[in-house]
Amino acid sequence: MINRREFLKISGMGAAGLSLSGMTGCGTGTSGRGIGPVGVKVIDAHIHATPGRIGRTLEIMDDNNIRYALLIASISGTDDNLYVGDKAFYELIEAIRPYRNRLGVHYTYDWTLAETDPDFFSKAPDMLEKAVNAGAIALKNLKDLGLNARDTEGRLIAIDDPRLFPIWERAEKLGISVAFHVGDPVAFFQPWEPGNERWDELKLHPEWSFADRSKYPPLETLFEQVKNVYRKFSGVRFVGVHVAGYSENIKAVGSWLDELPNLSIDTAARIGELGRHPAADGHDFFTKYHDRIMFGTDLAFWPDCDVQGAGPCENFSTEEHRKFYEIHWRYFQTDDRQFDHPTPIQGNWKIDGIRLDEKTLRELYWDNAYRFYDLGRFNVS
Ligand SMILES: [Zn+2]
Repeated sequence: MINRREFLKISGMGAAGLSLSGMTGCGTGTSGRGIGPVGVKVIDAHIHATPGRIGRTLEIMDDNNIRYALLIASISGTDDNLYVGDKAFYELIEAIRPYRNRLGVHYTYDWTLAETDPDFFSKAPDMLEKAVNAGAIALKNLKDLGLNARDTEGRLIAIDDPRLFPIWERAEKLGISVAFHVGDPVAFFQPWEPGNERWDELKLHPEWSFADRSKYPPLETLFEQVKNVYRKFSGVRFVGVHVAGYSENIKAVGSWLDELPNLSIDTAARIGELGRHPAADGHDFFTKYHDRIMFGTDLAFWPDCDVQGAGPCENFSTEEHRKFYEIHWRYFQTDDRQFDHPTPIQGNWKIDGIRLDEKTLRELYWDNAYRFYDLGRFNVS
């Protein structure tokens, strides 16, 4: 049994979650409808919802033209006891069964099993296959792989550990994609001190810091590990969530996309970082990789409250969620300058819009995820 704080710490929800005392929401509750998405219909390729929140999830999707959303990890339980793994997956797949044309679920391993069950590595591929037969649309690895997950000897499991190869091989055989959340914001790997650009978050949450090199590998090492997997398993389609974990350096991400044709990325919870780059650079990045990027927000519907990508867990109103989506449309569709990003806790700066052309927007909002997950088979429209 773990509480939400502990869960988020170990499971990779790091910057995306939990209530923060003394902080308020970013929604302003203004009335009336602002900007809408070009092309009207949208797939949000990265959200979270627990089984009891499916109704509210659909309500917010409907209000924002989100025709389909991917629950990018199987997470279930109550506020004080969230869990991943088989139990969470089968509860979620049951909860979305009536809505297969609206929601898809990724299967997520409970990596703590690698520490407690000596046979975990040999069982894991079959666990995945069973989940796919039950309806899992893909596999998602939370960031604890590489940072916290340990084997029965207590050794950190590298992302490119050969004991995991049979899992990636099985994913290829099953024809499903594999998503990786690798690392966390660059600042979380830098010294825990007031000069850190994400100090507002880190001082409230020292446990989000991965600066201690005696405990955690450097971010660059994690990137090298995951790229080894992308390279070796060229027949698997991979998604690097959160702009492949490196939204601070879209030039590097561009070079990874150039090198690795089997890699796609999503935008979840990274508009704050993306919008910080010169608008022309962001515009060129999204235009050049127009068929490799999926729109995602990281909006999370937890048992008792919601998180808008990062920041406080609150009972956000429908209007506040609409506002959250509108900032995304504004970033992608306008050349507005110096406005607030959707996740204020993720950095005390303003962002500039990148005004993508209509074709690129339709690919980002719809075509890429539709094709990637073959959503025609669920009559998504
Ligand atoms: Zn997420």
